Amino acid sequence: MTNEELIELAKEAREKACVELSGFKVGAALLEKNGTVILGSNIEDPSGIGVTNICAERCAIVKALSEGYREFEKIAVVGGLDKLIFCAPCGACRQYLNSWCPSIKIVLLETDGEIKEYSMKELLPYSFDETF
Ligand code: ZN
Repeated sequence: MTNEELIELAKEAREKACVELSGFKVGAALLEKNGTVILGSNIEDPSGIGVTNICAERCAIVKALSEGYREFEKIAVVGGLDKLIFCAPCGACRQYLNSWCPSIKIVLLETDGEIKEYSMKELLPYSFDETF
């Protein structure tokens, strides 16, 4: 699976986002080492409380883990309001991804349309698990 294909799947996942409050849709496509792709989208709490909002990345990881998948190769993420913009994982998602799979590659769509791949070390230097 190419990074371009994974980004396209993340775009499809983004269409299922539940974001009536913010309108900021995010999609993620998580590639398992066996080739399975698990999709995720951001889900906002309709009450507006906000503490239970789920990002697309954690949605995909939780779906995958609950289905028994454990070895993740890459995750592609796209997001934006009306048009796609550079949308890197938030801090909580970076820690979560690093906790479950520190070797995962993060595939992101740059604002100019270029697709780039990042390591966890690039996105989360000095992570919590490195301190013990
Ligand atoms: Zn997040």
